[in-house]
Amino acid sequence: MKKFKTLSLILFTLSFSTLAKEDASKLITQVDNQTSHLNIEISDGPYVFKNKSKSSFTSFWVCDGERKQEITLIDNYPHKFNSCGLSAEVTSGLVKEDNILEYSGDFKIAATSDFHGQYKLMMQLLQNNNIIDTQGNWSFDNGHLVITGDVFDRGDQVTEILWFLYKLEKQALRVGGQVHLLLGNHEVMTLNGDLRYLNPKYEYTANTLNIPYDELFSKESILGNWIRSKPVLVKINNMLFTHGGFHPSLAKEKRTLSEINTVFKANLVKSELSTKREGWGKYLHKKNGPIWYRGYFKVKDEGASNEEIELLLHHFNVKNIIVGHTSQKQIETRHEGKVIAIDSSIKNGKYGEVLLIDGNNKWRGTLSGEMIPLENTP
Ligand code: ZN
Repeated sequence: MKKFKTLSLILFTLSFSTLAKEDASKLITQVDNQTSHLNIEISDGPYVFKNKSKSSFTSFWVCDGERKQEITLIDNYPHKFNSCGLSAEVTSGLVKEDNILEYSGDFKIAATSDFHGQYKLMMQLLQNNNIIDTQGNWSFDNGHLVITGDVFDRGDQVTEILWFLYKLEKQALRVGGQVHLLLGNHEVMTLNGDLRYLNPKYEYTANTLNIPYDELFSKESILGNWIRSKPVLVKINNMLFTHGGFHPSLAKEKRTLSEINTVFKANLVKSELSTKREGWGKYLHKKNGPIWYRGYFKVKDEGASNEEIELLLHHFNVKNIIVGHTSQKQIETRHEGKVIAIDSSIKNGKYGEVLLIDGNNKWRGTLSGEMIPLENTP
């Protein structure tokens, strides 16, 4: 409890000094919102790290506000790490990068995006649309579930989402299905220590464990290594998925999907690079790169034109580009249905949708599990 009080005080002091000029009542509300859910003993984790010596792991939890650490030797997988009701089943040591970017076949596809720590809402959405069962296990058979990034930041159940997707991916593979978690700007920000949108709960975790939050996702951590193995895009049948979008210059310069992903990934974490990001590698991490681009949603001069969208579709040989990142109230389309926007504002914690695809048919799967045929908007 003492730690909690200290943190509240720090948060209050910080907020007070930076917002001193703002209206006082607004300030109080803001501080209350930031800390109200910290008014309980926090539990978080596990954060599991592979040690240099073979088969040894160090795992950390925050259990009821207190630091907990374990060192475990693992002979065979899977191994369940468990403390204070927070568990994770680790199915392998560190993994290699997944370089397969294209899939095709006769299976259903579901796509959603931008969970931002909203674990409960995500579970409800996936359950009601029969992607998982009531126990949270994969029930989408040989279907493919695409999540176009931004699991991190804003909400307070990021760890839960990560371990859930880590598990779900293995369950899907066992029955011929697949989970595609793509990198969004918030994954890349977290790995790079840009923690501007971090929920106060995770500041508490980092302080309690005495490990900077980004280092909880280092290359040696099970989750950090797993996230680093993920691509920035995936093409499934005649659809192309990424977090923000593909700038028309990528088609004009005839860049391949593999080239975009490889160069993007080679420049992923600044502190792990031998030289500074430069040239095209730097461009791919800036505002017109695949995790930040918003050009499909802007008015004519600033955004992509219909001709440019056509050029992109033709170059990548797809019918649709499906993106998250730019939030809508529900799943919507742009450019006569060629672009589909699947960030349905799950981040607000109230509502969300999943795009359901079967052959050429597409539906908005609502939070209650209703299937509404996708129509061209606006
Ligand atoms: Zn984003």
